[in-house]
Amino acid sequence: MNPVQSLDLPALNEKLEHASTPQILAWAWDTFGPKIASSSSFQTQSVPLIHLISQTCPDMPIVFLDTGFHFPETLTFRNQLESAYNLNIMNIYPSVDQSQLFYQYGEGLYRSDPDLCCHINKVEPMQRAVEGFEAWISGVRRDQTEHRAGLRVLEEQSNGLLRIHPMLRWTKREVWAYIDEHTLPSHPLFEQGYMSIGCAPCTRPVFSEQDEREGRWGGAIKTECGLHLDIKRDE
Ligand code: SF4
Repeated sequence: MNPVQSLDLPALNEKLEHASTPQILAWAWDTFGPKIASSSSFQTQSVPLIHLISQTCPDMPIVFLDTGFHFPETLTFRNQLESAYNLNIMNIYPSVDQSQLFYQYGEGLYRSDPDLCCHINKVEPMQRAVEGFEAWISGVRRDQTEHRAGLRVLEEQSNGLLRIHPMLRWTKREVWAYIDEHTLPSHPLFEQGYMSIGCAPCTRPVFSEQDEREGRWGGAIKTECGLHLDIKRDE
């Protein structure tokens, strides 16, 4: 039996809704370790969760999805954080390399069909990466998108994997306050207005009064790459 099926998810969700991030991380590692991983996009707002993982459950693998479209500064920042916090990073890659992708779809797939581009470069590699794990931690917050506002701390995916969201109740203001309080490093492009950073072709700087996610897939309806959309709900 899938171990997730033995958990009373409604009761646990009620309890964990009021738990702190370190408490949720400790529960997750005690319950699933070592068959649990986290994922990170290694941008400034990712650093509080990375910092808390390094303190609470330092052996937790942190999956980094190297789509091949990242800013070089993101890769540098990932390496900097890996050394600073002695992280257990797992780099994963799409099964289709970039020259094959360009040959098959042209160089502008991210413009002509961003959902397909995200599926090939993000969703499919992540599905492969989590095989063998029972739970997956992600740093999504309710204040980021309409979809994320409806998430609970624990969500089961259709493949039986348990998604755990220890940062769900944090606000943008709390993220920056934590970064200031602990003097955490910022992504090298942060000062240029890159508040939320993903692949370079789909990220642009935002003005300070704009929502941070407005810099992602600018001008398109798309707000999610698909990694956070597979949620199984019984109700
Ligand atoms: S974020 Fe953009 S470049 Fe990256 S996988 Fe999605 S569509 Fe492609």
